[in-house]
This record gives sequence, structure tokens and C-alpha cells, in this order.
Amino acid sequence: MGNADCIFCRITRGEAPASVVYEDEDIIAFMDIRPVNPGHTLVVPKRHYAYIWELPDEEVGKLFVTARRIAAATKEALDADGVRIVQLSGRAAGQEVFHVHVHVIPYYDAKAPQRRRATQEELERIAAEIRKRL
Ligand code: 5GP
Ligand code: ZN
Repeated sequence: MGNADCIFCRITRGEAPASVVYEDEDIIAFMDIRPVNPGHTLVVPKRHYAYIWELPDEEVGKLFVTARRIAAATKEALDADGVRIVQLSGRAAGQEVFHVHVHVIPYYDAKAPQRRRATQEELERIAAEIRKRL
């Protein structure tokens, strides 16, 4: 299943590492390696589609229901003040990985985002906190 050159297909197949917060037969969610804020998760349909407009309605439904559940768990786990749920389709919109994904990003009243590459330990620790609340 999937595309040999696609990093999210490789993560889905277990060929590339990721800090997984949720997985079922259709969806996988894992921590973004370059979080906008700690707790930034990517929710990904396991089947490879590049853009949101290619995604069948049932997949869109599952994807956004999962994103909402992860948003709730993330808000609770990290005591966030707000959460952004973001989907970029097309290079012009800022898409960098051409396998559909939804970003779930916690935000804080008192803290401006500082995007940076996170360590694997950090991602694992936060993933465990989110998993506990799903
Ligand atoms: P896009 O701009 O396509 O919506 O976002 C792609 C996201 O994937 C970026 O936030 C980037 O940090 C993240 N990303 C890119 N490569 C990897 C990877 O190998 N592992 C993980 N966990 N995230 C990745
Ligand atoms: Zn893919």
C-alpha cells in the first residue's frame, strides 16, 4: 500500500520512525518533528492521496473526527488555551509533504510560538501524555 518515496507512507508502513499518538486501520497520527508549539500532531489517512480535494468523503469524515479527538486530548494534556486544526493542499498554500495530513497545533495565551526541531525524547514524552487522554 502507498507510495515508496512518500515519507508519510513510510511512517504508515513502519519503515520510518515516528512518535505515534493514535492508529487504526485507516488513520495514523504522530508528532510533527518540527512543532510550531510542543504537542503539534499530524493526522494522516493511511491511503496515499496528495490533496484534500482527492479524498473520498468517508475519509474526510474520519480524518476530521480523529483531528477533533486529538485536539481535545492535546488541550487537556498540555493545558492549551486554544488549538488550530489546519490543512494545506498545494504548494501555493504552503504544502511541503504531498500526502494529505491535518495539523493539530496547541496555542497558549502567554506564549508566542517558537518553531524548532524537537528531540525524539521530547516527542515521545508529549505523545505519551496525549495518548493517555484519547
Ligand atoms: P505541510 O506544510 O505539508 O502541511 O506540513 C508538513 C509537515 O510535516 C511539517 O510540519 C513538517 O515539520 C512535518 N514533517 C516533515 N517530515 C516529517 C517526518 O519525517 N516526520 C514527521 N513526524 N514530521 C515531518
Ligand atoms: Zn504517502
